[in-house]
Amino acid sequence: MPIATINPATGETLRTFDELDSQGVEQRLAAAVGAYRTHRTTSFAERARLLRKAAELLDEDQDEIARTMTTEMGKPLAAARAEAAKCAKAMRWYAENAESLLADEHPSDADVKDSGAVRAVVRYRPIGPVLAVMPWNFPLWQVVRFAAPALMAGNTGLLKHASNVPQTALYLEELFRRAGFPEGCFQTLLIGSRAVDAVLRDPRIAAATLTGSEPAGRAVAATAGDEIKKTVLELGGSDPYVVMPSADVARAADTAVTARVQNNGQSCIAAKRFIVHTDAYEAFEERFTAKMAALTVGDPMDEATDVGPLATEQGRADLEELVDDAVRAGAVVRCGGRRPEGLERGWYYEPTVLTGVTPEMRIHREEAFGPVAVVYRVADLGEAVELANDSPFGLSSNLWTRDRDEVERFVRDVEAGGVFVNGMTASHPALPFGGVKRSGYGRELAGHGIKEFCNATTVWEA
Ligand code: NAP
Repeated sequence: MPIATINPATGETLRTFDELDSQGVEQRLAAAVGAYRTHRTTSFAERARLLRKAAELLDEDQDEIARTMTTEMGKPLAAARAEAAKCAKAMRWYAENAESLLADEHPSDADVKDSGAVRAVVRYRPIGPVLAVMPWNFPLWQVVRFAAPALMAGNTGLLKHASNVPQTALYLEELFRRAGFPEGCFQTLLIGSRAVDAVLRDPRIAAATLTGSEPAGRAVAATAGDEIKKTVLELGGSDPYVVMPSADVARAADTAVTARVQNNGQSCIAAKRFIVHTDAYEAFEERFTAKMAALTVGDPMDEATDVGPLATEQGRADLEELVDDAVRAGAVVRCGGRRPEGLERGWYYEPTVLTGVTPEMRIHREEAFGPVAVVYRVADLGEAVELANDSPFGLSSNLWTRDRDEVERFVRDVEAGGVFVNGMTASHPALPFGGVKRSGYGRELAGHGIKEFCNATTVWEA
C-alpha cells in the first residue's frame, strides 16, 4: 500500500510520501531511547503540563485537523471534529489522573510482615519506547488513547500509522513536539507494514500495541512473542445488539442506526448483529430499516451528510463481497445492498439491512466493516445470548431491556469486553476498553490502560 492521502470521496490521490529508509528509522529509534532516558525521570506534574498544552493546541487546531481526517479517510466532518474534541478530553483526563492511577500500592501490614519485610510497595515504572501500529478509522483517537497514558507513564512512543492517513500521523508528531515534549518522545515512522517486523525486533523497542485487523494483530503478536515483548491487541468486532420486549423499542431502533453507521460503519465497536426478540421484532425491524434507508449518503465535508464513503476501494470491495455472498445464499435485502447512484467517483455504499442470514453465510461470522446490518429474530434471552456468542469476536455488546434479571444474566453470560445496557457502545477515558476472543487482549484507557505498559515493580526492604 503506498503511503498517500487518497480522498475516498473522489478516489483522487492528493499527496504521496516516501517511506522512511533504514537510516531514518535508525535515527528515530535512537531518538526514542534517548528521550526515554530523561522522560522517565520527569515528574507527573511536568508530563501533565505538556499533555495539557497538547490538548489546548488540539482544541485550537480542531477544524483543520478534522478536515485533514475527513479528506484522508472520509468520516463526516462533524464526527471528525468530535473525535478531535474527545482526544483533547482524554489528554486532560490522563494529565489529571495518571499520578493517582500509578500511585504506589501498599500491601497490608500483616502481609508485609509475613513476607519478611519491614516495608514493601509495588511501584509502577515505565518500560521504554513502545511501538504503536494503528488503523485509519479513528486516526486521531486510536493514537491518543495510546499516547496520552504512555507519555504520562514515562514511556516514549513510536507510531506506525495506517498508510492512508500520513498527514494525520505527521500532525500528531508535530502536536506533541509543539506542546513541548522533548524531541524523540513521540515520533511518527512513515513505514509500510512490511517494515514493522524489523522495528519490533529492535532491542530498543520494549513493547507494542496494535489496533487493527486480525491478520495484522497475529503478525505483530507473533513477532513480539518471538522477542518476548508485551503486546496489547485491539482487533475486530461484530458486536451483538440485543433487543428484548420490555425495552423502549423505538429508542432502541433509533440508536441502532447510529450504532451501526457511525464512522460510515467502520468502527470496531459498531453494533453489527441486531438480535431481536420475536415480540419486538416487527416494530424494531420496520423502524430500523426505514431509518437506515432514509440516511443521507454523500460528501463527508457536507454538514448534511450522515454517511460518507468507505475509506478505501478495497474496503468497499470486501463489504460488497460479504453482502453478495449472503444474498446468493438466500439472505433478504431489506434496504441498500448496492452502490448509491450519482456518487460513482467515491467509494460509497448504501446503508444496508439484511435479514434471513444463516450460519453458513460469511457475514454471520465475519466483520462487516461498513454500513451493513444483519437483523436476527430470537425466541428468548437464552437464544439471544447463544447467538451473540456465536462469533469469533468478543469486543463489546449491547442489551436493551427494562428487566433487571435479564441484565444480570446477560452480563454473566455474554462473551465480550463490554456490556452497554439501553445505549450504544462508546469509549470513555475512565472506562477500560478491549475485548476477548479474536477481538484481542489487554485493555486501553482507565487505570488498566496505563498499567499495560508499566513495570509493576516489587520493592521489598528488610
Ligand atoms: P489493518 O489492515 O490491520 O491495519 C491496521 C494497521 O496495521 C495499519 O497501520 C497497517 O499498516 C498495519 N498492518 C497491516 N498488516 C500488518 C502486518 N502484517 N504487520 C504489521 N502491521 C500491519 O486494519 P484496517 O483495515 O486498517 O482497520 C480495520 C480493522 O481494525 C477492523 O478489523 C477493525 O475492527 C479493527 N479495529 C479495531 C479497533 C479496536 O479497538 N478493537 C479499533 C478500530 C479498528 P498499513 O496501513 O501500512 O497496511
